[in-house]
Amino acid sequence: MQRFETLESNVRAYSRSFPAIFSRARGSILLTDDGRKVIDFFSGAGALNYGHNNHQIREALTEYLASDSLVHGLDIATPARLDFMQTFSSVILHDRGLKYRFQFTGPTGANAIEAALKLARKVTGRQNVISFTNGYHGMSLGAVAASGNRFYRAAGGVSLCGTTFMPFDGYFGSAVDTANYLQKLLNDESSGIDHPAAILVETVQGEGGINVAGKQWLRAVQAIANEVGALFVVDDIQMGCGRTGDFFSFEFAGLSPDIVAMSKSLSGYGLPLSMLLIKEEFDAWQPGEHTGTFRGNNLALASATAAINTYWRDSTFSKQIQRIADYMRRQLEAIASRHRNHFVVRGRGMALGFDCLVPEIAATTTRKAFEKGVMLERCGPADQVVKFIPALTIDREIIDEGLELFERALAETLHEVRITSN
Ligand SMILES: *Cc1c(COP(=O)(O)O)cnc(C)c1O
Repeated sequence: MQRFETLESNVRAYSRSFPAIFSRARGSILLTDDGRKVIDFFSGAGALNYGHNNHQIREALTEYLASDSLVHGLDIATPARLDFMQTFSSVILHDRGLKYRFQFTGPTGANAIEAALKLARKVTGRQNVISFTNGYHGMSLGAVAASGNRFYRAAGGVSLCGTTFMPFDGYFGSAVDTANYLQKLLNDESSGIDHPAAILVETVQGEGGINVAGKQWLRAVQAIANEVGALFVVDDIQMGCGRTGDFFSFEFAGLSPDIVAMSKSLSGYGLPLSMLLIKEEFDAWQPGEHTGTFRGNNLALASATAAINTYWRDSTFSKQIQRIADYMRRQLEAIASRHRNHFVVRGRGMALGFDCLVPEIAATTTRKAFEKGVMLERCGPADQVVKFIPALTIDREIIDEGLELFERALAETLHEVRITSN
């Protein structure tokens, strides 16, 4: 690790949380170069919903590479590009009664968000964007301006503008309906809030602490967006591709977003691929107005198509995710109830959070958990929530094994906390 410290910028983050050199991975298991096995409950921050090196998807990649088909081609037309759009349209969109155009953006989620906000501003001629407390949308200036976290905002180094933050669902507890609050402010000509170009929302806030928006709240926010002439934009970068059980995280609420941003697990293999789904009437771009060298990399498109063909042609996978997610949630709730610290388990589908309320407990537990062989990251405003986002393809036995290590780490942490506080 010493060599990483001298060679790589101080900005590196996960190599600090998980101090080991990882040489191989398959499914939900990582192997370190000194032969340790680590169970992955973090899935590359949600970029590996189908596990590491998924062999069914890998087959499409090796075939693609062996055929000398185009890997890079800017956004020139290729069979891989067409195949992806046609497959996604027929397998994912058509069955759900959705119709969108595809915009492949630069390869990061942040770039998809930049493109979505630009487009919404262009379509409406308005500047302001409504985003929500604890929202996370990426690190580029437009995306970070829509993100709540002060640490990330400050790193921008310039004043961030063009966004107004509104309280997310449940921000003031269950007694306050924050959708009502939003509606009141947007309809009041003297509220001081400029009419928005877009309302940008995550249905479950991943980085923000696994905060779950309810069905009614999401419907209300969509209705408000429509009412005030703003585009309703869902950031499904982390919660899409099956994370919550359905392919899109907003299906359960029957939403019809004007723009959907996707990235992370879209390629199915951890390859960088990002896109916007845009309702045709809002596709107001001039040709080349939002460009980039790596838009819709063909290799990533080939694996993305394979992922859809492998997992989403019927509802089997979705049901499997719901089952394993229910199981994991029950196990986490059982762990919470075995330790009398008022822990809160929350989430939707396979996006689960174990809120320790005390940041030190979360920090020490995840550190100890890694030493015992399970990779877990924290989230939430004070990093007080342990986040469980394993691969959607994970086996029950590996969940059990990982949760046992987590619980031992938690028990040791609580024991230490008790000793130091006595
Ligand atoms: C990760 C993430 C982003 C940013 O994606 P990058 O690829 O890191 O730029 C945006 N929104 C959400 C909800 C995310 O989880």
